[in-house]
Amino acid sequence: MFSMIKDWREQHILDNSEFTDADWMQAAERIVILDRLNKDEMSRLFELATLFLDDKSINGAQGFEITDAVRKSIALQACLPILNLGLEWYTGWSSVIIYPGSYKSETTTVDEYGIVHEGTQHRSGEAWQRGPVILSWKDAKHSGERDGHNVVIHEFVHKLDMLNGRANGFPPLQPDMDPERWTTIMSRDFEDFQKHRKSGLDRYGATNPAEFFAVLSEVFFETPQKLVDAYPEIYEIMVKFFRQTPM
Ligand SMILES: [Zn+2]
Repeated sequence: MFSMIKDWREQHILDNSEFTDADWMQAAERIVILDRLNKDEMSRLFELATLFLDDKSINGAQGFEITDAVRKSIALQACLPILNLGLEWYTGWSSVIIYPGSYKSETTTVDEYGIVHEGTQHRSGEAWQRGPVILSWKDAKHSGERDGHNVVIHEFVHKLDMLNGRANGFPPLQPDMDPERWTTIMSRDFEDFQKHRKSGLDRYGATNPAEFFAVLSEVFFETPQKLVDAYPEIYEIMVKFFRQTPM
């Protein structure tokens, strides 16, 4: 019964979408990494992005104007990681805030030794537990160019990670996945990455396990061969997690 209501509601949103498939296609053509999707996947991505825009509000900060092009670009890339998972993976929060460029953020962080660090940081994005995703458009507009960097995917993957508590590189896994295998592979390769540089993998991933997962997810969707070369087993478990094979 509930799923019937949900289906009806979703169909209503899709029928009343402000964007046509042609509008979506035009936006998708600018995001190079989407060119691997087949026709069926592409139209599912358009539907998901339509539901996403209905579910989340996208607001500009510091005078940044949210155009239709911005909304479509963010929605398409935000929905790529959940293409085969569903919008319920972005449940429990409602807004995306976009700054024109990198922005200053007052920070208080507690490190692994329990020391609190306070200060000001320049950021290109962040994801708050049960709160908004924040992005800098200057960085986000270059996402999807197949260069291995994608701040949109990065921040939205943190959201997946936060579904079962604090971001720690351990999102809720699929029912057919072995949590122990995930932990073993992720911890082992994270330790390795802290010691060794890998071609195409941003050093920011060595910060902590949550950033490792987010950075490697960017590579998974942008330049998957680099992930296979560096950490083949992570590629393999990410295929199982995201239910996609970008290679
Ligand atoms: Zn991050």
